[in-house]
Amino acid sequence: MTSNAVHLLASYVDALRPIIYIKHFDFNAVDILIKQVVTNQEIHEYNDAGGYVYFESKNPKCYNISYDIETFLLNFYHEDDGENFLVLKDIHFYLDNPKVIALLKSIALKTLNRENFYTTIFMVASKLVIPNELENLITVFDIPIPQVNQIRNIIKQFSQNLNCNVENNVIEELALSFKGLSEFEIIQILNLAYQNGGAINKDDKQLIIQEKEQFIKKTGTLEILNFPETINDIGGLNKLIFWLQKKAKVFKNLDQAIKYGVDIPKGILLVGMPGCGKSLVAKATARLFEVPLLRLDIGKLLGKYVGESEENFSKAIKIAEAVSPCILWVDEIEKAFAGIGESGGGSDVTTRLFGNFLTWIQEKENTVFVVATSNDISKFPAEFLRKGRFDELFFVDLPNGEERKKIFEIHLKKRGKYHKNIDIISLLDQTEGYCGADIEAIVKETIENAFIDNKDTISTDDLLAVIKSTESISKSLKKKIEKIRESLSKISIKPAS
Ligand code: ATP
Repeated sequence: MTSNAVHLLASYVDALRPIIYIKHFDFNAVDILIKQVVTNQEIHEYNDAGGYVYFESKNPKCYNISYDIETFLLNFYHEDDGENFLVLKDIHFYLDNPKVIALLKSIALKTLNRENFYTTIFMVASKLVIPNELENLITVFDIPIPQVNQIRNIIKQFSQNLNCNVENNVIEELALSFKGLSEFEIIQILNLAYQNGGAINKDDKQLIIQEKEQFIKKTGTLEILNFPETINDIGGLNKLIFWLQKKAKVFKNLDQAIKYGVDIPKGILLVGMPGCGKSLVAKATARLFEVPLLRLDIGKLLGKYVGESEENFSKAIKIAEAVSPCILWVDEIEKAFAGIGESGGGSDVTTRLFGNFLTWIQEKENTVFVVATSNDISKFPAEFLRKGRFDELFFVDLPNGEERKKIFEIHLKKRGKYHKNIDIISLLDQTEGYCGADIEAIVKETIENAFIDNKDTISTDDLLAVIKSTESISKSLKKKIEKIRESLSKISIKPAS
């Protein structure tokens, strides 16, 4: 376990935090960590499988089956004085039992209030469950994600243990790829790489990327995405693209920019019409900045226990920070913040989450660039749109004639069907009010029709015929579009084109 984790946990113990909740799935790793912190005293463990056991051997210390967790806690509660260290494994199974909660609370309060009675309770579980009654007494301990220099040491240690030589330049490169993973996950991947090829070398970078995507996926809230789209795939939105190109220069030369006094770019909010390229811009920004793209699903952050949603959020943010520099794409952000300011349990959680998000984005000094996208800002609290949260707010409108021309060209070229005889200009009058996604759909359908009809290529008339049978978004979503325009008229926002 990294010395960082040991120091942090030791500082909680020294500060007499009565209950320390360690959320981790690898109990072995947690045991090693606790042992490094509690060096001279006996540690008393209660776990679901063995009951009261010896911490080192896990052999039962008490064979009486009536000696349950309540008895275990009660015995320590009854002690008059002294210092005790209790480890409760898989504690979340017991946290719906009022008696257990009451005992944990009593021991914690006695530790805080009674002289010479010090009991530190380590609750260890793979899941975070915090009952309301214990909220103020529990300190949640996250095993920190190792930094690059610590990762280098983990790789070196691993290779020494297996007696396999890993070259320094390989260590350097792999260490960067491992950023964002826990020590446990890093060792798992190293083991896999070693078993695959009997050595650790540069080619394992691909394996790391694949496995990292798996681990990040397992968080349930974040996803690493790989898209081929670049800014050349975007038709129009010139002002937005120009702005992003400037930020890309900063992002790609961060060291120099920071030394020069430039602020680290925070992020943008893209609001506007459906199907007009907001998601496309998020994807292309990752390519432009030459960094990974993570998508945050805020809907999945919401949990049912106290603090679970906030815990999920902070975990997702920590991973993004560890993977940084990166783009964090928060899609349909309006859905996550629905109900803020209203009364009711669920909205309390979203209000708290919203507060956390605002604080994070306002104060963040890391290289996670947020691209938030939305087409309904009517329910956004005013403070969300205030300057300082995002670097800029952009309005993505339905494409104008020139932009529609570009979008036709992009999608025709993508499918190898662009040729000079297609008179795109003549299509522009017919496609007023169509969004980028509509135009893409028209091109696709025209090409499919031509294939079915055994035509060598497509003509302007073929495109016109499909346009006539395709309803534009301005018609199919008339009310929604009007509502978007109305809500946007109330705020100050830059046009993207
Ligand atoms: P929503 O608000 O509904 O999520 P969106 O604004 O995020 O919509 P996209 O998902 O980016 O829209 O667009 C859908 C598809 O339409 C894109 O993948 C792309 O193929 C095409 N498209 C939309 N706008 C453009 C554009 N400006 N240039 C090129 N293609 C576009």
